[in-house]
Amino acid sequence: MPSFPADVPTLFAVVILTSLSMAAGIAVVGWSRHNDGLRWWSLALLLNAAAYALFSLRGRIPDSLSVLTANLMLGAVFVCMQMAVRQFHGLRMPWRAIAALMGILLLSLLIFQQDFVARVIAVSLVLGAFATWTLWDLVSEKRRRVGRGAWLLAAALAFQGVVFVIRVVMVLQMDGEPRLDRMLTAGGGQTLTFFTAFLVVLLGSVGFVFMSRDRADESNRVLAAQDPLTGVANRRSLIAALDRDMARALRMREPMALMMVDVDHFKGVNDRYGHPVGDRVLCGVADVLRQRLRAQDLVGRYGGEEFMVLLPDTGLRGAEQLARELCKAVEDLHCPIDGMPGPGIAVTVSIGVFGGPLESADSWDMLIAAADRALYQAKKNGRNRVEVVTGLRRPSAQLANQISPETQPGSLL
Ligand code: GH3
Ligand code: MG
Ligand code: MG
Repeated sequence: MPSFPADVPTLFAVVILTSLSMAAGIAVVGWSRHNDGLRWWSLALLLNAAAYALFSLRGRIPDSLSVLTANLMLGAVFVCMQMAVRQFHGLRMPWRAIAALMGILLLSLLIFQQDFVARVIAVSLVLGAFATWTLWDLVSEKRRRVGRGAWLLAAALAFQGVVFVIRVVMVLQMDGEPRLDRMLTAGGGQTLTFFTAFLVVLLGSVGFVFMSRDRADESNRVLAAQDPLTGVANRRSLIAALDRDMARALRMREPMALMMVDVDHFKGVNDRYGHPVGDRVLCGVADVLRQRLRAQDLVGRYGGEEFMVLLPDTGLRGAEQLARELCKAVEDLHCPIDGMPGPGIAVTVSIGVFGGPLESADSWDMLIAAADRALYQAKKNGRNRVEVVTGLRRPSAQLANQISPETQPGSLL
């Protein structure tokens, strides 16, 4: 490897100052946040600055500080980083394994006090293991979506891991008698080590802060699309999805159906048991609808005690059959209420289904109006039942109706 020495005191100053300023910045941002791991990250940066400050004093202070304590602090930096990542993801810390790794680090530092090469190898291996472990924690969990911030941090950790390996290889190839003050000597290996420390601090910290932002963005996105009471889609995302499904159905020449589901005599539930119990019943009904639907279907709360179900690529008969099953499933549901004896509260729903051919000029509100007409019929015909509508009331048809000779005697014709 070519040698590209840089001024060592400058390198130390850069790493220490970057770590300190990043630590201060992240502490300010993350102090009030308890579950984001930002405090741990800030502590990691602070320890990093302290470790490099001790390294920089090698020869001027006892080795117990500049070698032993400084390297142990570097180990603690990686523990804090792992703590930050694990706290961020709500994972418990594997303290025993961490204590074992830190124990190996301490032992190697004590045994190889006079052997620079063996010490560098041991420290690189232990810290490399920490970096790889944290990297694994960051990207391994299957259910978790890895955002761009996490990838940035993962890149920094991976880079750190690779540099530890390079460092081991370089130190093994070192010619001449290894010297105790190698840490302070300008050279390719040291420059690489310092630049890595600098990059990990910078990229890792930016990545970690962005992880928090990615998560906040994601939860805002979910909150904006969800009904806060029942957890199903809210009216806004229902309408957006309906618009999308209609465009797709027209493009692919596929059928689509829409249901309006309204709880029967729900006012009576509220009047009899109170609003909070009414809320629980609504959640129960939403759960039944959600559990019975396919992955491509969408259930949402259209308003009050009224739900809407979108059924892409579904014909009228299929939708009607499903609606009957949903009616039955809700009828069978006896919503258990805490502290209330008996089988729980029974409710029924009426469902209006629209299923029919679409035209390119049709809009989402026409489909909702059609399903609403069917729902009105279901209510009128006795509730706890399903009615269907196959045709849409199109403006042109209404216009034609208005000017047709039969409906408008004495018109222009
Ligand atoms: P119908 O069978 O004709 O649908 O009768 P209904 O009593 O269900 O219909 P109505 O429209 O008269 O009453 C709906 C009730 O739903 C009135 C309102 O207080 C209640 N409601 C609307 N939103 C909520 C809610 O979020 N929680 C609770 N507990 N009640 C709600
Ligand atoms: Mg109702
Ligand atoms: Mg209603």
